[in-house]
Amino acid sequence: MSAIATNLQVVQHRIITERAKSGRQTGVISLLAVSKTRPAADVLAALQAGQQDFGENYVQEGVDKMLALRALSPDTTPIWHFIGPLQSNKTRLVAEHFAWAHTIERLKIAERLSAQRPEHLPPLQVCVQVNVSGEASKSGCSPAETYELCRKVAALPRLQLRGLMCIPAPACDFAAQCRPFAALRQIFVDLQDRGLAVDTLSMGMSDDLEAAICEGSTLVRVGAAIFGARKKS
Ligand SMILES: *Cc1c(COP(=O)(O)O)cnc(C)c1O
Repeated sequence: MSAIATNLQVVQHRIITERAKSGRQTGVISLLAVSKTRPAADVLAALQAGQQDFGENYVQEGVDKMLALRALSPDTTPIWHFIGPLQSNKTRLVAEHFAWAHTIERLKIAERLSAQRPEHLPPLQVCVQVNVSGEASKSGCSPAETYELCRKVAALPRLQLRGLMCIPAPACDFAAQCRPFAALRQIFVDLQDRGLAVDTLSMGMSDDLEAAICEGSTLVRVGAAIFGARKKS
């Protein structure tokens, strides 16, 4: 078995173990394999091990990898998620090539994605990114403006609002890891209470996926624990 296949099993086991521990019986917890900086061959190894969903942070790198993968293995059909910072000049490539975008933080970006989503594709599945830790340096809309932004995004014709996403600052212990995830879940429940049909809480990475699942994550985004540590640039 490839190292990537073994790592995927370990991560799946971590997900199942934590889900049982937290007493969650219903609902899926999806695994998004974050393949940024990794070659198409690594994506292929994960696909061959049964992994379907992949996350990329840089638009051009992601699109190049999709094409390289198609050349390597024309029959595979990965589902691509965009999880990096989204600038106006990159929305067209995201709208044309990805199935999901997790990092909507402004209405203008969402409007561009909706206008640029090709007619022959299903609506782009989107999450609104929330800056739950409240750090000025972090991306995401503020908790207070989340509902208004979500309501407007949900009304755009070529997008389907699926839920919320966050990238909290690293924390050293479990309780500290849980706090921002619990805060995001509270905002998520509030959206549901106010009538928005959202089903996705995109939270948790290699180092904090247990805390995220404990607080209700439905989708964890895992890179290093699957593909190995990334080189520091
Ligand atoms: C890189 C990245 C991940 C994965 O991080 P790991 O620590 O490698 O698991 C998840 N989400 C986002 C938005 C990322 O940029």
